[in-house]
Order: sequence, then structure tokens, then C-alpha cells
Amino acid sequence: MVDNPPIKREDLSRLFIEFAGPAEECRFLDCLHSGEVDCGVKDAVKDGLVLNSRYQNYLTILEEVIERERCYR
Ligand SMILES: [Zn+2]
Repeated sequence: MVDNPPIKREDLSRLFIEFAGPAEECRFLDCLHSGEVDCGVKDAVKDGLVLNSRYQNYLTILEEVIERERCYR
């Protein structure tokens, strides 16, 4: 296994380039697009602009990233 440097949760959405546009509509600058209100990404998923499967994939990885951050502390 390759020993990647741990991704930070706020860097994760950068790997999902199609989130970049919709993310500008988020109310919060540090929005993680998971449970926040007025989230542009969630709206984009609802409108079919972002694939739901990609969004679910993102949520899964986000959970892992948060879990790992907990372990490193
Ligand atoms: Zn968001």
C-alpha cells in the first residue's frame, strides 16, 4: 500500500472537481457538503448537476478522513 499523506477534510472536495462550481453557492465557506444547510453541492445533486453516486462516494471518503483525523489526535 502507498503511504499517502492524510487528506484533510477541507481538501477532500478539491478532488471532486465538479463540486467546485456548486460549492460557491454554499452558505458556509468551510462547508463539508454533508449536513450543512444551504449547501450548493447538495442542491446540485438534487438538480442532477452532480452525480449522486459521486456525492455518495465523497461522503464515504469524508467519513474515513474524519475518522482518521480522530486517530491521529
Ligand atoms: Zn456545501
